[in-house]
Amino acid sequence: MKFFIMTLFPEMVMDTLSTSITGRAMDRGDLIVEAVNIRDYSTDKHKSVDDYPYGGGAGMVMQAQPVYDCYESIVKRIEGSHKCIYLTPQGRVFKQSIASELSTEENLILLCGHYEGIDERVLEEIVDDYISIGDYVLTGGELPAIVLVDAVARLLPGVLHNEESAVGESFSDGLLEYPQYSRPEIWRDKTVPPILLSGDHAKVDAWRHEQSVIRTRERRPDLLGNDDLG
Ligand code: SAM
Repeated sequence: MKFFIMTLFPEMVMDTLSTSITGRAMDRGDLIVEAVNIRDYSTDKHKSVDDYPYGGGAGMVMQAQPVYDCYESIVKRIEGSHKCIYLTPQGRVFKQSIASELSTEENLILLCGHYEGIDERVLEEIVDDYISIGDYVLTGGELPAIVLVDAVARLLPGVLHNEESAVGESFSDGLLEYPQYSRPEIWRDKTVPPILLSGDHAKVDAWRHEQSVIRTRERRPDLLGNDDLG
C-alpha cells in the first residue's frame, strides 16, 4: 500500500513518520509515504492557497483549485485503485475496525485541511470518505493523517516485527489488552502475577483473557455486548 498525503506542511508529516517503527518500515520499503505540498499547485503569483469565506465569518478557506490540481497530479501517477480520505472533525470517528478496513486498499490519498477547512466543491469532486480522529477540533489535518497512517501501517505485512506484533492488542478481538509485565520479578514490593512465571501457556492464556474482560468492563464497558466491537 502507498499513502499520499496532501498537505500544506509536508515536513510535519514526514518528520514524524520517519521516526521509530514507521521510519524503519519506510527505510525497508515496507511502508511507502509521500507528502505532496498543495501550495506547489497554486496558480496564484504569491502561491496563496486560501481566501475569505463567501457569506462572511471568521477565518480563511482553502481554495478548490490548488487542492484539485494536487489531487489530479497524484491520481495521474497512481497504479491500481485508490481512495481519497478527507481528515475532518465532521467525519466518521476513526477506530481499529476502520484501520483494518483501510489496510486492504492499494493507495490511500489523505487530504489535510487547515484554517476553516476546504471549499466544499472540491470535496464533492474528490473525496470518497470523511474521517475524524475524535470529537475535538485541531488546527490542521496533519496530526490526524499521521494517526491514520500509523494505525493502518502497523497492520501491513512487514511493518511490525514479531516482537512488535499487533496480534492480541487492544481492540483486535473487541477487548482491551491484558496487563503486561517485564523484569524484574519484584519492583517496589510489587510482584509479577505468579501465573505468568508458571510456564503453563494454557493457564497464562486463560488468565490473560480473564484480565482483558475485567479491564474492558472497568475501563470501556461500552465495548462489551456491542456487535461492532472494533
Ligand atoms: N471549521 C471546521 C469545522 O468546524 O468542522 C474545522 C476546521 S479545523 C480548524 C482545520 C482542519 O483540521 C480541518 O480541515 C481538518 O483537516 C483538520 N481537523 C481538525 N480537527 C480534526 C479532527 N478531529 N479529525 C480530523 N481532522 C481534523
